[in-house]
Amino acid sequence: MAIIDWDAYDTAQKVQSGEVSALECVDAALERIASWDSVIGAFLHVDAEGAREKARIMDSTMTREAKAALPLAGVPVAIKDNMVTTDMPTTAASQILKGFRSPYNATVVERLVRAGAILVGKTNLDEFAMGSSTEHSAYKVTRNPWDTERVPGGSSGGSAAAVAARMVPFALGSDTGGSIRLPASYCGVLGIKPTYGRVSRYGLIAYASSLDQIGPLTRSVRDAAKILHIIAGKDPRDATSIDASSVSSEVGPVQIQNVRIGLPEEYFGDGMDSRVRDKIDNVLEQLRSMGARLVPISLPHTRYAIATYYLIAPAEASSNLSRYDGVRYGQRVVGQDLVSMYESTRAKGFGHEVKHRILLGTHALSAGYYDAYYLKAQKVRTLIRQDFENAFKQVDLIVTPTVPDLPFKLGEREQDPLQMYLTDIFTVTTNLAGIPGLSQPIGLADGLPVGLQWMGPPLAEDLILSAAGRLESALTLPQWPMLGGLDR
Ligand code: GLN
Repeated sequence: MAIIDWDAYDTAQKVQSGEVSALECVDAALERIASWDSVIGAFLHVDAEGAREKARIMDSTMTREAKAALPLAGVPVAIKDNMVTTDMPTTAASQILKGFRSPYNATVVERLVRAGAILVGKTNLDEFAMGSSTEHSAYKVTRNPWDTERVPGGSSGGSAAAVAARMVPFALGSDTGGSIRLPASYCGVLGIKPTYGRVSRYGLIAYASSLDQIGPLTRSVRDAAKILHIIAGKDPRDATSIDASSVSSEVGPVQIQNVRIGLPEEYFGDGMDSRVRDKIDNVLEQLRSMGARLVPISLPHTRYAIATYYLIAPAEASSNLSRYDGVRYGQRVVGQDLVSMYESTRAKGFGHEVKHRILLGTHALSAGYYDAYYLKAQKVRTLIRQDFENAFKQVDLIVTPTVPDLPFKLGEREQDPLQMYLTDIFTVTTNLAGIPGLSQPIGLADGLPVGLQWMGPPLAEDLILSAAGRLESALTLPQWPMLGGLDR
């Protein structure tokens, strides 16, 4: 196997044992990016020289013992460009942050670097993480490595595509309503959105603060556990981060016969692509044959989830994005006076979808509409959370499809925001409830990846990872994408 085929686990182990150098690993990633990113468009910034320099320093100054203490020694990583970094620009794929350079690193970046990972680049996203296809980036589109005429999903599409195209063994994404799990599903990689508060949001550019979480996109369940273990934990710089006992760095064994798995009827109704349905049915059959107990359940408020999400997320976004005023960050468009400077900066700096969300959010929060929209949405959010609390009295975990359909064609949903919003129908509920969700690749339908979503009670990441690991070992997963037939 070539270096680019290794997961983070293998890469670190081979660097630690001296079988390969950190520089060889970084070079393999950079060469892959140089050959293919003009087709895929996963990266907004690549720091080849900086990454090589860090690898050289690791190789020349660290003893074998010192490397053995670094769980991600020499592992190249890509970070979604809405997490701030000192060594590279951070734009959130927006014109308004063009040229912005952060004076500090996000906590997750610090933790990865401390573990020995080497940051090679920042990945594309929908502007400020608002979208489901990565088509709303102000800079470029990202293509799905399985079929370059199709979207990679969003908003962490660059991170998912970079992992699927084997440019990096793993990447970080953020998930407000599905932005890790949806692109993971569309690109055939694994992605986990942790319990709210599990991972520090310090240095994550806020979209909707009560929903946002950072998580890894990986090629294997064991990598997801390893990386989550490294980035999780209390951070004094994020008051919402929780002081829970940590996620285990290894995937523990699980007696699948003892796991009761709920199948919510609301997630298996009409509107699902029959090819996705067949694939999911096969996997459910497989779980059953492994001894899992599949229990029909109901999450009755699911039907209100998209409406609730699209009130709460834009409301929070409209407040969070008020800081981009041309005074403190990034771009400024000068005007006659202060107010016209604000107006022209925001008019020019924000893209269409972001403006759309700010308008929606401002409207939902405005006097006269607040009770009818925002407050009502908060009440329904509680009901959605209670649905899960009730369900987890009966079952240990829940599985659903991650997305009801297969990756769509570039441009197909751009004129139809409602259709685009509905892509998140199965993922927004976990963010509203604050619970963990993981999307696991389960194979291809018509040559395109399908994902299975696992959900669990708050802080049940270990159980989710164990169950997903058990399923992973029973599945025969396809080869990597041939990059639209272009790759070897
Ligand atoms: N697609 C959803 C939205 O546009 C979710 C995005 C996300 O999780 N960041 O808001």
